[in-house]
Amino acid sequence: MDLRNGFDIKRYIRAVPDYPKPGIQFYDVTTLFANMHGFRACIDELIWPFLGGSIDYVVGIEARGFILGGAVAHELGKGFVPIRKKGKLPAKVIGKDYELEYGIDTIEIHADAISNGDRILLIDDLIATGGTANAAIDLIRQSGGEVAAAAFVVDLPFLGGAAKLKNKGVKVHTLVQFDSE
Ligand code: AMP
Repeated sequence: MDLRNGFDIKRYIRAVPDYPKPGIQFYDVTTLFANMHGFRACIDELIWPFLGGSIDYVVGIEARGFILGGAVAHELGKGFVPIRKKGKLPAKVIGKDYELEYGIDTIEIHADAISNGDRILLIDDLIATGGTANAAIDLIRQSGGEVAAAAFVVDLPFLGGAAKLKNKGVKVHTLVQFDSE
């Protein structure tokens, strides 16, 4: 049992075997988000280290990072900046390629979204290998921002993503972990 804020967040995350392909266990947070106590508990738990702190913007990664990041930004009284898949943002962007298991993907941020010295809280639902968050951190730093911390509901520590971020000098805040796929 992993009680967070009096709520067992882990119990409401649905494990879907063999999605999106055989051998992958997908940790589905939609079942947690759909529960009114679950969604509130995870937002409360995500924000507590940053209450009263010096964050300037919350940056969320498409798509589940938007659901969490919007609520986190609202609660912290800060603005929200999206990082999206290639080709989705309308104005001038900067992009970063990153490796997936098969092939390359690209994420983008508006070139004028972050200014020099802005302190950023990066949000996504889950960190696995850290490839996505790592590319997001590079984009934020390239924009002149400083990544104050990165926060995730789920950590899969056996895939090493959180350790990779810490090695880049980023503070990592996670709520629950699963120890195998
Ligand atoms: P990674 O770049 O390997 O850290 O993967 C993190 C991104 O892929 C996040 O946006 C997650 O939503 C998604 N993801 C990767 N692996 C899983 C998994 N096993 N279950 C659910 N989402 C995953």
